[in-house]
Amino acid sequence: MNRSFWLALAVLAPSVFVVTSLAQADTLELKDGTVLKDCFVRDEAIRYLVWEKMGDVGTPNMKVVPRSQVKEWKKARDEAAWNAHPNLPDLSVTFIEINPKLAGLHGVINYEDVTGRPVPKGAKTMIDIGDRCWTEPEEIVKNLKLKYRPGEEITLTAHVMNVGFATAEPFDYVWMIDDAVLKRGKCTQSIKEMEEATFPLKYNWKEGMHSATFRIVTDQPEIATINNQATDALWAFSYSFVVSKGKDQVWHTVRSAVGTFSFEDYYRWHVDLMNTIFAGSIWPSAPQGIKARVRLDRIIYCDGDPADAQSALVQPDGLRYDQGNWTWGDSAEEIKTGKYQLPSFDWYTGTEWSLPHELGHQLGIADWYWIDYGGTEDHRWPDNGEIITHFELHPNQMMHWHGPNLHGEVDANYLNETWDKPRGYFADYYFAIPRENFIKVVDVNGIGVPYARIAIFQRGAEVDPAGAPIQDQGVTYFPIIEDGNFEKLASREPVIIGMTDSDGVMRLPNRPVTEVKTLNGYHRLPNPFGNMNVMGNRGELLVEVTRYNRPTYFMLEIYDYNVAWFRGQKDKFTMVLKTPYGSTSSPLAPTGVLAAPIENDRDHLRVTWSAPKVVREQQYLDRVIGYRVYRRIGSMTLNDRPWFAVATLGPNATEFIVDLKQMPEDIYWYSGTNRFAVSSLGELSMESELVEAPIPPVKR
Ligand SMILES: [Zn+2]
Repeated sequence: MNRSFWLALAVLAPSVFVVTSLAQADTLELKDGTVLKDCFVRDEAIRYLVWEKMGDVGTPNMKVVPRSQVKEWKKARDEAAWNAHPNLPDLSVTFIEINPKLAGLHGVINYEDVTGRPVPKGAKTMIDIGDRCWTEPEEIVKNLKLKYRPGEEITLTAHVMNVGFATAEPFDYVWMIDDAVLKRGKCTQSIKEMEEATFPLKYNWKEGMHSATFRIVTDQPEIATINNQATDALWAFSYSFVVSKGKDQVWHTVRSAVGTFSFEDYYRWHVDLMNTIFAGSIWPSAPQGIKARVRLDRIIYCDGDPADAQSALVQPDGLRYDQGNWTWGDSAEEIKTGKYQLPSFDWYTGTEWSLPHELGHQLGIADWYWIDYGGTEDHRWPDNGEIITHFELHPNQMMHWHGPNLHGEVDANYLNETWDKPRGYFADYYFAIPRENFIKVVDVNGIGVPYARIAIFQRGAEVDPAGAPIQDQGVTYFPIIEDGNFEKLASREPVIIGMTDSDGVMRLPNRPVTEVKTLNGYHRLPNPFGNMNVMGNRGELLVEVTRYNRPTYFMLEIYDYNVAWFRGQKDKFTMVLKTPYGSTSSPLAPTGVLAAPIENDRDHLRVTWSAPKVVREQQYLDRVIGYRVYRRIGSMTLNDRPWFAVATLGPNATEFIVDLKQMPEDIYWYSGTNRFAVSSLGELSMESELVEAPIPPVKR
């Protein structure tokens, strides 16, 4: 250590003392009662990373706490203390660039086809193969560089930046592939604040999943040491980032959640975080998580408008040589004045959850929230007239909500099946639908409902009034208008009608499609959804089941069909729809079911009923051994938010007080309507139909 360092430390010491004694910091409370006070926490979805004292910030000395162990994280940071500039250097490996680069297909997958077929188009190096383009896309792109050959020489270039506030001294470095050291070297020059140096490595490409590491080896004191090494998967999808020099500089003035004063470190952390989330996205059909990885291949620092620098990434052949890009736009005001804005203190000391979501789109995965469905005037619940709605089946996933979520099962499988393919296609996994599909309508006892009438309506579709109905194995479907508009509301008329057989089963017809194959290996074939487009708009079928003059509603969502495919049900998939109907062996249902508020008690409600009238003395099927009370909340369909039992009672009960505060912690998005119902229990707990208490109509 040199003299100037000791001087710096001497100057710093009193202020450090003040910082640790007075400054506010975070509190992390664990479920086991442990409280970590005055710590510094960052959120990585499946876990929290905790520096337990200011002196640890920026070092690998951090506690890893699984999310499930945390009760509450209170962020309370003293802005001035957190952002104080230590008079130290900070060497950071900002990114590892690989050359030559592989072609990406962003901007050159064309979706203009009226039936929503994607096709590679628009780059000079692509081959025009006429109508074969729909089914032989690999012929179109066979001149593009999409892979490295085994043994091909590539160059890895590590970019090192001093993101501290004092000049960095020379240092040693190590290049590694997996655990093997390939090269040791020395940076002999000093690196000034915000200066960059680069360190190339020649490498002969090897097939398989290998990683490259660049490590700085030095004893010199630094603001942070966690940024002294970068490890990238060589099979990872490459991102390019574009940022103006002005914005990069303003990020250098503050300390981000990562503990350093660097745009590069903060956003490189988000790329690493995506890999953490990928590894953690473990599902029945993805038991090892997602094997795809992402890496930051380069940052383009621009002088002018970042949007222009982004456009300039398209090469003369019409292609961009990355698998995704993110560009930090500058406002007109920033460009004009040269004064660049930072996000809020709370923002840059937290996780920017929108980024892993948006960078997910760059990999071809779509928003699942398009499936959330507020309904239409044409389809209403018959009891109170409110509009029938639906919420995407698994909203707590990365591509539904920005937040600390995993990627869902469909996204996980898509990335696992296509990790070595160029990016640019969008959501072609929607074509992964089992070859034969059935619905099975069951009653309250799980027994098939024979001869129920089925009418199916579709989002994003409109029945063609000029089209003739088509029969397919006893089920009728109707041609729809193919005008390229997939953003229609649910069809007023059914697209499919039919009836369940004696077992309660109905086969869904495979409606015709225009055939298309994608480079990712997906193939659109006739299926119940017809011409699914890549935005998912046609991915919902509203099923009306009618038996005993009692219509009930369900939503078939493309998500379940994709999951079935990925779980291996490629030939046949059956969706079970549970109705409130009774069985042939059911006891007689209760009568006079009512639900009434209790005066001066908003938290409870009284449900009353009468025993069924005895019509067959001593008939054992009719013997009632008890009653079950049910509740249902909201306007969503019966498979979204099903009836749930609130009580099971003996045969003499005729009322039950429901505690309205007790309910599943579910998402009741569109409506809070409460419904109540009662069933009789016969011998063997065979249930009667659910008899619903009347509810007032909704105001229109
Ligand atoms: Zn999105």
